[in-house]
Amino acid sequence: MELNICHLYPDLLNVYGDIGNILILKHRAELRGVKVNIYNLSLNDKFDKDLYDITFFGGGQDYEQSIVSSDIFKTKRDDIKDYIESGKVFLAICGGYQLLGKYYIAADGEKLDGLNILNISTEAGDNRFIGNTVIYNEEYNETYVGFENHGGRTYINDLKPLGKVIHGYGNNGTDGYEGCIYKNTYGTYFHGSLLSKNPELADRLLYTALSKKYDNFSLSKLDDTLEIKAKEIMIERLKNN
Ligand code: GLN
Repeated sequence: MELNICHLYPDLLNVYGDIGNILILKHRAELRGVKVNIYNLSLNDKFDKDLYDITFFGGGQDYEQSIVSSDIFKTKRDDIKDYIESGKVFLAICGGYQLLGKYYIAADGEKLDGLNILNISTEAGDNRFIGNTVIYNEEYNETYVGFENHGGRTYINDLKPLGKVIHGYGNNGTDGYEGCIYKNTYGTYFHGSLLSKNPELADRLLYTALSKKYDNFSLSKLDDTLEIKAKEIMIERLKNN
């Protein structure tokens, strides 16, 4: 079995260990005997919607986001839209998450066009939301931990959130939601890195991607004792903050 992972703009959008998400997907797939190929795409590159099984889009500063915003719309937008609408797996963090929406109004007032694939929009506020976070996803009965650092406030309208905020700010500091889910696309503000701290989510992405490609596919169980323990400790510490 083979898994093709696309990393969008790793040279421009890759902060707070976002690349760790790629490393975790690769590691957990390889432990199940799956060969992993990684495709790094940047300015002017075309997006091959049929080739990739998982696509990752990380976060960055407003300056880099502005460069990416003008390139991605021209060179990749329609293929990324087809890919997402067809139900393929996409994970977007922070700056990448913002750019999947209608627009992002940056801290200096510049309006960056988003890909207008997700029905979300973002505007920078007066201060940044920084710190450790905990959210709860009711549908999966799972708790995710992470680290956020963003000026943007995102509103997800009719989309499902990735989770309800237990600790931290989430999408905008007011409505109690963090991230969003649309088909098999996940948007979130969790950096550093989301999938190393939340192996159940990593496996959901792997399972969804591989089962689209291979019949009767199942993921063997891995020993996540350390990850589970680390998560419990983080949740416990944040409770007392
Ligand atoms: N520049 C965006 C913001 O501040 C995204 C930040 C990030 O990706 N960490 O909201």
